[in-house]
Amino acid sequence: MKKIINKSELRNEAKAKRAALSSNFMLQAANQAAEIFLQNIPLEKVNVIAAYYAMNNELKILPLVEKLWAKNKQICLPSVIENNQPMIFRAWQRGDELIDGAHNIKVPDENAPILVPDIIIMPLVAFDKKGNRLGYGKGYYDRTIAQMDKKPLLVGYAYSVQEVEKIEHESHDVPLDYLVSEKEVRKF
Ligand code: ADP
Ligand code: MG
Repeated sequence: MKKIINKSELRNEAKAKRAALSSNFMLQAANQAAEIFLQNIPLEKVNVIAAYYAMNNELKILPLVEKLWAKNKQICLPSVIENNQPMIFRAWQRGDELIDGAHNIKVPDENAPILVPDIIIMPLVAFDKKGNRLGYGKGYYDRTIAQMDKKPLLVGYAYSVQEVEKIEHESHDVPLDYLVSEKEVRKF
């Protein structure tokens, strides 16, 4: 009988694969993924794009953010205001210094305007071939997207090694529309 792997086992498996990548590979991957994003994600009607501040061994997003700034897109970053509540997105302009936010994640300061993103580029721990997404297990993105008036386009941004066979979908899980890695783009 096939073993059912639960979310927390999958998280550990995917985190270990990500942690084993060399720094040289990671650097190249960030540039390759940025190119693949720009070539494949429709941006004509898009003004505001939520990025993330890369933590742990997440795919570095700064090369992509620089290119989006150069295209005059507005970038924002998620901010946790209260534990286990939806996040808000604050504008991040080129040159703005970030401050320490909740969970030691850098965020724009309180003077930065709150924006509603057209696209959310989402970090993740693992994804599967159907576009299911596994985060760190707190459901922050699921909760944030659930209360938005208009669902933004959701683009997972991750190393290809973060793909797993199957992630059990729970009713609160919001699936990805696209996945961009250093290797390819997937549309779900
Ligand atoms: P992650 O998406 O970070 O991998 P999970 O999908 O396992 O984490 O979600 C973690 C928890 O977050 C869930 O058990 C659920 O209680 C909570 N959660 C997720 N989305 C919502 C929501 N829209 N409203 C309320 N709670 C939510
Ligand atoms: Mg989830």
